[in-house]
Amino acid sequence: MMMAISCQEEAEVPQYQSYEDYPVYEGNDLGLTYSPEQSAFRLWAPTASAVKLHFYEHALGGTPSKTTRMESSENGTWLATFNEDLQGIYYTFQTKIDGEWQLEVPGPYAKAVGTNGVRAQVIDLSTTNPEDWETTLRPRLKAPNDIIIYELHVRDLSMNANSGIQHKGKYLGLTELNTVSPGGALTGLSHIKDLGVTHVHLLPSFDYLSVDESRLNEPQFNWGYDPQNYNVPEGSYATNPEDGAVRIREFKQMVQALHANGLRVIMDVVYNHTGDTETSVFNQVVPGYYYRHNEDGSFSNASGCGNETASERSMMRKFIVESVTYWAEEYKIDGFRFDLMGIHDIKTMNQVSQALKAIDPSIFVYGEGWTAGDSPLAEEDRAIKAHTYRLEGIAAFSDDIRDGLKGSVFEREQKGFVSGEPGREEDVKFGIIASTDHPQVDIHRVSYADGPWAKEPSQTISYVSCHDNHTLWDRLSISNKEDNEEERIKMQMLALTTVLTSQGISFLHAGVEMLRTKEGEENSYKSPDAVNQLDWSRKAEYHKVYEYTRLLIALRKIHPAFRMPTTEMIKTHLAFIPQEEEGLVVYSIKDHANLDEWKNILVVLNGNGDAQEVKIPTADWTIAVNEGEVDETGLGTVSGSSLTISGRNAMILYNND
Ligand code: CA
Repeated sequence: MMMAISCQEEAEVPQYQSYEDYPVYEGNDLGLTYSPEQSAFRLWAPTASAVKLHFYEHALGGTPSKTTRMESSENGTWLATFNEDLQGIYYTFQTKIDGEWQLEVPGPYAKAVGTNGVRAQVIDLSTTNPEDWETTLRPRLKAPNDIIIYELHVRDLSMNANSGIQHKGKYLGLTELNTVSPGGALTGLSHIKDLGVTHVHLLPSFDYLSVDESRLNEPQFNWGYDPQNYNVPEGSYATNPEDGAVRIREFKQMVQALHANGLRVIMDVVYNHTGDTETSVFNQVVPGYYYRHNEDGSFSNASGCGNETASERSMMRKFIVESVTYWAEEYKIDGFRFDLMGIHDIKTMNQVSQALKAIDPSIFVYGEGWTAGDSPLAEEDRAIKAHTYRLEGIAAFSDDIRDGLKGSVFEREQKGFVSGEPGREEDVKFGIIASTDHPQVDIHRVSYADGPWAKEPSQTISYVSCHDNHTLWDRLSISNKEDNEEERIKMQMLALTTVLTSQGISFLHAGVEMLRTKEGEENSYKSPDAVNQLDWSRKAEYHKVYEYTRLLIALRKIHPAFRMPTTEMIKTHLAFIPQEEEGLVVYSIKDHANLDEWKNILVVLNGNGDAQEVKIPTADWTIAVNEGEVDETGLGTVSGSSLTISGRNAMILYNND
């Protein structure tokens, strides 16, 4: 049948000396450009000698209803145009490389896919918008330091029978209001809203590999750090993964519901590696190009997952920038958390930040400032924590305060400041000033950082736990098994107080406000729901901890002194008060810092198991926080130059004299 192949359909492939010699396509029409009158498909595949475009009636199985040879076009791209309405058609690309036909893939730029993401789908995106989507606005955000993040897996919120949520494990589960547990406590979206956080950070919710979307009636769980299609929502969280429009619409409904309830939405993005390597959407189209390699030609592995992408290459950089831009515009996403950001180069991350802030300056970008293995990318070019000051409007997680508070995540029995380890005070102090430059922090006594790595406080994510490693409650149960539950609750509350009064961006792992446990499991990335799901009975059981967290968040939001915008302001207003005993951190925030209504604030943190007498600035102080209680009108007063604080306790005091 295919006797005569035109020269356009079978191209002479130039011999490129290196990936840097590949032609770069600057256009913004890669993938599918759809209208009811026309569908144009463009694929960048500069090393292919031929490309086929297959159409299918179904998401899985069967044979192509039509196969078309794409035409070689400009700068390494291939083009096929159809002057008809292709809405609903599934499609794949297939490249011929070195004389061999590769696997069929949806292509890197797919915006809609069917079951398991193996075929892309032609979808008119304008038909996926829920009602009133066009007028859905991002909730107001005055300054980045106002951000309080709640890190959540879509499935964890609703899976438990006691969540009272109807759409269990689904995007739509995040749209249900006023759901309650059997004990009557608010759950789900209403719980998050009541808690008072400003942003919900969703663990990977782009299309990932590990959950089989064709058998969702069986229990399956994965965190989702194994990307398959970057520009498509994950199908297992949709009510129907087969119809590409459904996951898009339901994702938008989720964003809309969160926005309507004053919550911004952050996506966890994993551009640093792909779930598959040889068979990924990238590698089947342009073998090798999107990845870094060792000198022997093998895939390098800074991700610890079998490969690492090459953000410094023009078409990978362009891909990342266009992908986040797409999510911010099409889905109104308000922030991006970059997994293993240290694998990416600084130039790419700054372009990401600039592109997003051009859409809306309040879109927030942060990431893990480290890698999970060595990389061929030169150290000086990596977007690691130590280089945060070279990143523009991008924050990094502070492992300094995290491990200072509870001990190293790699030494499960090690204690930290809140659990009774002396000598971690400088780590905690460095966290309190959000990793900025401050004359009273001796950087040589900070365990990890070699210098102040944040140029401004909004570049630091202050946290004590996240989805990785043990939950805070499990960690304390391991490191402090000699202490009873009451004592460990004090440690948890002291940690929460420290995080929520620190400068910078506050970050909470979902459930930390009700002593979340994974029954001691450290890495639950594919553990069953029974381990991962939030157990809403704990909200009633540990109501005191929940209520305390909620009130601390409210206190932070009322008092701008805890959210100073600049390093200079922190230097001017925040002063540590040296103590003789170990296990104490005491500081004041003076003179209506950041226009706070409180003139002077005193924060006293005691990590010791017993009561301590601490030196304080001489004045008449009103106690606003003590022993798990929060009351701005005053829990008592303190006068003089010292006070006594009970063991494992945080006090916040103020005066207006
Ligand atoms: Ca998937």
